[in-house]
Formats: sequence, structure tokens, C-alpha cells
Amino acid sequence: MTLYDNIINAKEVWQERAKVLNKELGVYTVGDMLDHLPYRYIDQSQKSTVSTLTADTIVVLNGKLSNMQTLKTGPHRERLTVDFFDGSGYIQLVWFAGTKWISKKLKPDTDYLVIGKATPFNGQWQMIHPEIEPAANAVQSQHPLMPVYNTTDRMKQSGLGTRTIARIIDSIIQSLPPIEENLPQTIIDHYKLLSHDQALRVIHYPESQTMLDAARTRLKFEELFFLQLDYQYAHQQRSMHSEGRIFAHVGDHFNRFYKEKIPFPLTDAQKRVIREMREDMRSGRQMNRLLQGDVGSGKTLVALMCMLLALDNGCQACLMAPTEILATQHYQTFLRMLDGLGIHAELLIGSLKASEKKRIKKQLAEGDIKILIGTHALIEDNVQFRDLGLVVIDEQHRFGVEQRSKLWNKSAIPPHILVMTATPIPRTLAMTLYGDLDCSVIDELPPGRHPVRTFHRTEPRRPLVFSFLKKQIDAGRQVYFVYPLVHESEKLDLRNLYAGFDMVTSYFPRPDYQVSIVHGQLTPEEKAFEMDRFKRGITHIMVATTVIEVGVDVPNATVMVIENAERFGLSQLHQLRGRVGRGAEQSYCILMTKDSLSYTSQERIRTMCSTTDGFEIAEADLRLRGPGDLQGLQQSGALDLRVASIVDDEPLVRATRDTVHDLLADDPTLSRYPLLQQHIANSKNKMLWGKIS
Ligand code: ADP
Ligand code: MG
Repeated sequence: MTLYDNIINAKEVWQERAKVLNKELGVYTVGDMLDHLPYRYIDQSQKSTVSTLTADTIVVLNGKLSNMQTLKTGPHRERLTVDFFDGSGYIQLVWFAGTKWISKKLKPDTDYLVIGKATPFNGQWQMIHPEIEPAANAVQSQHPLMPVYNTTDRMKQSGLGTRTIARIIDSIIQSLPPIEENLPQTIIDHYKLLSHDQALRVIHYPESQTMLDAARTRLKFEELFFLQLDYQYAHQQRSMHSEGRIFAHVGDHFNRFYKEKIPFPLTDAQKRVIREMREDMRSGRQMNRLLQGDVGSGKTLVALMCMLLALDNGCQACLMAPTEILATQHYQTFLRMLDGLGIHAELLIGSLKASEKKRIKKQLAEGDIKILIGTHALIEDNVQFRDLGLVVIDEQHRFGVEQRSKLWNKSAIPPHILVMTATPIPRTLAMTLYGDLDCSVIDELPPGRHPVRTFHRTEPRRPLVFSFLKKQIDAGRQVYFVYPLVHESEKLDLRNLYAGFDMVTSYFPRPDYQVSIVHGQLTPEEKAFEMDRFKRGITHIMVATTVIEVGVDVPNATVMVIENAERFGLSQLHQLRGRVGRGAEQSYCILMTKDSLSYTSQERIRTMCSTTDGFEIAEADLRLRGPGDLQGLQQSGALDLRVASIVDDEPLVRATRDTVHDLLADDPTLSRYPLLQQHIANSKNKMLWGKIS
């Protein structure tokens, strides 16, 4: 038998079962079956008994059956119940499906092993759809750790419960010659890893906890190693092959801006990051850099300075923002900051008149326009630059991989790419996901900022919240009210939002108070109009959906009230909170929730109230939600990990990253590692990551 044999060749697998394994688990070969790892183990040395059961934990019980009953519950439905006695007490076993087959199989006076979750029901213990098999059949019962495999209902109907899977895998392991190694021996020796063969055998069939741990470590290492290899190899290939413009010159644009336009000293973090980017941009290779920093840390300013550097070297630069509101705001900020420097900047967004768009495109192609700001309209095929040298992408998670790759076609030598994100990514994740992007972090806020104070309030205290807001507004400050988008239908969300608007206006009536409302259904002009009124201080309160999530900059706004805060994710709450605390005044964030919260909601709220550090929040987010839910990360291979966890295995992520790094530095073509070369040749991730910029 080999790993590549069809699974049908395994013992206890016939045509029908093979089909079910294909369909339910994607298992086609013997090797695929071995890759189906146990998701937990039952310690058989800790024997469970009915008398010591606790609710909802999976246990193995050993005992005999009696009192088998089948009850008709519908025209084609019946229920099978059996009493199971293990010497210490009774538990009822219940089946709703496959009852005929099971009842035929079960015999009294035989010792059975029953595996399942016990739940109390009507004053007695019950186990629904347990796995059951004669104790005599139990595989390797001399081993204390019994593997438990994921199974589906469909699998169970074909008799493919966890015990059967264990037997199938066991027989494969017995008849399989040693499995080929896939890691270089030097690495195995250095980290004292089990061999691939040993690890796979042990993980299905551990003799002890120590061996199990060693097997897990080995498989995690291998998984992370190959992920790193894919990313870093792609990164290396690209930097070897993608020539970049050389911005060696620091000229008037940069210098005049620096001397005349920045009224404050740059923070040390800003200086460091600018230095890092300048080095990239004069290296002769294309820059691909991720710039992370909390909201308000001064990323935009840094990005603008890089753009000026591009101009100093005869190129154009552009900035892409995720929404028209944001693009417009950036444009206004840029106009203000660039005032008097004689730099032609323009805004290109979908809502412009056709004639305006035409003029901008023409001036862009002729090189008249130096800086272009816009949404993804910028990367449409008909937008041609004369010589695009730098692309800044704001809030990277909103741009798809494909959209970004379009940028490559914009000029002969690819432009330098700077991706800015205010949603910090936990370090382990960044190491894995952006193994192929260089990363700069602004980890310092400009001096004089007061951290936003955050409070959690529930409905009974709303009057107090409102009187606090009143004080703030009467002192000249402004306030945001944010409502989540939660319903399937936008109509319902809108109704919710307008109900909030009515409540706010009844407490803050005209003409003394002015309240704005902004949501996704408004036209861009309507939105811009309302935002502008708020910005100029004409309205005191802004009631909005999450359209204000990113980028809105009104330093006079000091309070952010987030309604139904339990419905927001952590990074979203953090983003929203970043809208306040931008001026000199102390700012506040009030998280309104219902009374009773789920555990994760409580944790989110608690995290928000206890820290303003974006990285800490990102780590908590990852812990609470798992990486699968993190915004925009779905396409990444880092989320398909089978054994390793980006959250819990930071040391291994680090070790594999460094190992791969050293390996590639030493032998860029992997000429001494045919195994790894072969892996690269077969790798799926290569395509995707080679294209991202
Ligand atoms: P980000 O893009 O990271 O959210 P911005 O670049 O928009 O941050 O900066 C936020 C605000 O802080 C802006 O008003 C900007 O002018 C100001 N700012 C940026 N850098 C500094 C600094 N070093 N000192 C003082 N204020 C700064
Ligand atoms: Mg910003």
C-alpha cells in the first residue's frame, strides 16, 4: 500500500463508504485519510462511569444493554431507545435515524463501549446518537489515549463513526511502509523533530501524552514551515525579478513641505518609518510595504511625504481610499497641506461629471496632474498615468487581491506600493500573512493626545448618558451616535437608525441643537453635505451607521456613543473609537449594550474599556474570534491551517519564519533542497501571493 492508493483499498472501505469519504471529508487516497487527524483524545485511563457523569462532556462508558424499544413517531419516523448499565448506573441511549440497522446490530449480554455526550433529560442521563461497538472490537484499547475523529451524520449512517475511522486508519498504518520525509534533515536535527513518518503514526495512535505532544509539534512545524516557504519564496522571487524605480533624489517638493508645512515635529516612529521607506525606494527594487499604525498616529502624513518624494523624482503618485467620503477627505486634507507648493492634485471619484472625469484622465496621461486621489475608480483600465511611481492604498483590507494586482499594468516598471492599515494585525498573523510584505509600524501617537476614556452603559442609565452629552455639547463639543448594520434587509436597519435619530432629536430638540444623519442609502452628495455640516460645527450630533467607520476627522468631536455595541466586532469598535480623541480635549467613548451579554461580547466590551492599544485589541480579537473571521483575510492560506494555530503557536511561527528566511538567504534557488523545490513546484499558494502588491 502507498499513500497514493485509492482509499477503497483500505480495510473496511468499500464502494459506498469510499464515496461517503470523498464527499464528506474530501478523502480520496490513503494519504488523505491519514491527513484526517483526530480532533481530540479520550484518556481511557480516566474511566468514566455513569455515577460520575458531568453534562455535555464526551465520555467513554463500558457496559451492557437492556430494554430495547422502538417507538413510531411519524409515518416514516421512529425512535430507538436502549438502557445502558455500566455497574454504577443507567443511561438511556437514543437514536432517531438508522434505527433499523442499529437495533439489528445490538445484542444484550455483550460488553459494549459507548462514546458520546451525556445530557440530563427528564431526571435521567441521556446520550443521543452515541457511537457504540462491542468492547472486544475496540482498537488498541491497551493505549490510554483514544483518538476521536470528526464525523458527519452521513458518515455515521454508513457506519463510519469515529471508531471505524480509527480502525481504518490503524490498518492503513499497519500496512504502510515508512512514509517519506518532507523536511530537510538538518532542520529536523536542529529542532529535534520527530520524522514525518513517526509523527503521522503517533498522532493517530499515541502511546503517551509526551509522544502526542512531540507529534503535534512536528506536524505544526511542518505546516507553518511550508506556509512560510510559499510566502517567502514568492516574495524573494518577486523582489529578484521586479525592478523598481530609484528615488535617490530628495528635492524641493519634499524639503519645502517638510520645512514650511509641518507645524509640529515628527514623532520618532514617523521618522523611522520614513527612513525605512526611503531605503526601499532607492534600492532599485520595487517597494512593497505595509504601514501599520493606530488611527491618528500620523500615517497619512507619512504617506504624503513619500508621495512628494516620488514627485521629486519625476513621477506621479496616487492614493486609493475605500470610500468616496474618505477619498474626498484625503483630497481636502492634501489640498490644505499642499497649499502654496504649486502641486497639481486631483480627486477622481465615480460621482464626478463625465466631462470632469475626461479632463482629469487627459491631464493625468499628459503628466500634468502629479497627485491623484480616489477610490478604486483609479485602477479602472481607462485611467492611464504618464509615469506612476508610487501607489498608496489606504485601509488595505477593503481592497481585494485582484484589484491590487491591476496596478501592475499601470506602468512599465511597477510602481512602489505602500499599504496603510489602521487595523493592526497581531504580530503572529502579520508574520504569516505578510511574510512577503515588508512591514513598518508607527507605534507612537503624536504628543499631547489624551487616550479616549471608554465606558460601558446599559439602557437604564441612558438618561445619565444623555445629560453627560448635553454638558459636552453645551461646552461646544460634538457627538457621534453610531448604529450597527445588523439586519439582512437595509430597510430594517434604516428604520432602526431613524428610531435612534428620533430619540436623539427628542432629547436634543431644535432650534438649540442640530442633528445630522448619515447612512449608506444617501447619495454621495447628500452624505458629503451632512459630513460637511458636522465638520463645520453647524450640527452638534451626527447619527450614523458605520459609514463613518474610517477616516472621518473632526477634532472637535469628543464623544462617540456606540449603540448595540455588543453587535460590533472588536476591530470595528476600535476603528469607530478612533474618530474621537483627535483634538486637544479629553474624549469619551460610550458603549451602549443590552443587559445580558454573551461571554465573547462581554470580553469585547471589557477589552475596549481597558485598553486603547490597537495591537492589544487585535490580539484579543484574534483570540476571541479566531483568524477565520478577521476582516479580509479569507483568501489567505494562513487560515486553512490544520494543526497549527496562528493564535497559540507564536514560537513556532517565529521559528519557521526565521528558518525559512535563513534557508533562502543561504540558498535562494533551494538547489540543495530538492524536496523543497518539489514542494514549490506543486504549491498552490504561489500563484496568489506572487500577484499581491
Ligand atoms: P492617521 O492617518 O494615522 O490616522 P493622520 O496622518 O491623519 O493619522 O494624522 C492625524 C492627525 O494628527 C492629523 O491632524 C495630523 O496633522 C496630526 N499629526 C500627524 N503627525 C503629527 C505629529 N508628529 N505631531 C502632531 N500632530 C501630528
Ligand atoms: Mg487616516
